[in-house]
Amino acid sequence: MLTGGCFCNAIRYEARGTPFHETNCHCSICRRTTGAPFVTWFSVRSSDFRITKGEPTLFNSTEKGVRSFCARCGTQLIFQHADFPDEIDVTTGSLDNPELVPPRDNTRTSTRLRWVASTDSRNTRKLVSKDKIVSEEVTIRPFTERDAAQVRQLFITVNRLLSPPDLRDAFEAYIERALTEEIDRIPAYYGERNGGFWVAVKGDEVVGTFGLERASDDAMELRRMYVDPLARRRGIARQMLRLAEDECRRRNVSWLELSTAEIQQEALALYKNAGYRLVREKTSRRLATRLSVLVSVDIISKRFCDKWVSRCCSW
Ligand SMILES: [Zn+2]
Ligand SMILES: [Zn+2]
Repeated sequence: MLTGGCFCNAIRYEARGTPFHETNCHCSICRRTTGAPFVTWFSVRSSDFRITKGEPTLFNSTEKGVRSFCARCGTQLIFQHADFPDEIDVTTGSLDNPELVPPRDNTRTSTRLRWVASTDSRNTRKLVSKDKIVSEEVTIRPFTERDAAQVRQLFITVNRLLSPPDLRDAFEAYIERALTEEIDRIPAYYGERNGGFWVAVKGDEVVGTFGLERASDDAMELRRMYVDPLARRRGIARQMLRLAEDECRRRNVSWLELSTAEIQQEALALYKNAGYRLVREKTSRRLATRLSVLVSVDIISKRFCDKWVSRCCSW
């Protein structure tokens, strides 16, 4: 659950559900009603949002648009539009932890101020990531509770990047379910399955994840292998895969299985280059009901040999 409020604390709110439409809005109304060059927003379903303290003051900024702010300190909190009664836009900056809901794109860029640096995700990310990522080494270590928020965010980010626009709702439902069943309870989930969960860390930043769960007496399943989009093409996935294999050897398990969807071409290439072979294609039951486009899932498996890992695994 997300919580936030105005600067003076007279008004507090909470938002449940998975945020959507996270964006930097460069329209002149956002600018003039806040005095800031642009405003970052996210949306939630109206039923998922509630004011828990105080009462915001409302004003119509357009015929159908209503903005709410704290009459005492002036913080703008929410925007509602008569044509979209089921959505509430919330100012990301009023969250207690705005880091949890980064913007995905920019809206109304035709009115973006020319001196506002482009915050299109690719550009910013490259700039931000260069120093950070190149200069620090990646460490892969077991998950701890203090990684939870970052792991959650990485999970959401990666899955949203994979979501084709026409399947957005289905992906959001999938994300929501996976958060509840697995990602928000990692120690319990992987403990119950005789497995483990690891994070790849650069400095304080979680840049990768993977989990292992017992698939059978002689096999572990590799799950949730995600790399931060900012940190890709730096060998992090390969490093994590190697550690997963080591963990299998340590447990005397000779098979490592993984499934990946057709749309994850980069992941497929990585596994194939690392000596994995396709053992079967199947229709994923978990995604079948909603994600019919993505249901052709490749199951890839690799056998380890203690002595000649690379040779006997080249199939
Ligand atoms: Zn206030
Ligand atoms: Zn706006």
